[in-house]
Amino acid sequence: MKAAIHPNYKTAKVTCMSCGTTFETGSTVDELKVDVCSKCHPFYTGKQRTANAGGRVDRFKKKYNID
Ligand SMILES: [Zn+2]
Repeated sequence: MKAAIHPNYKTAKVTCMSCGTTFETGSTVDELKVDVCSKCHPFYTGKQRTANAGGRVDRFKKKYNID
């Protein structure tokens, strides 16, 4: 690796605000915060998680008896 070729490209620490996981990715900033990540996004997990806890979705499910 010749670091001097990409002087502004470095490793950023990414923090997921939903599940708290952290991982690293290449970026031009030191730190990133995301609402969902590949570990907790419904598309990947196949189910809703903490992002909707106690929210509208739960009430909707109770109303129509969807578990
Ligand atoms: Zn996450």
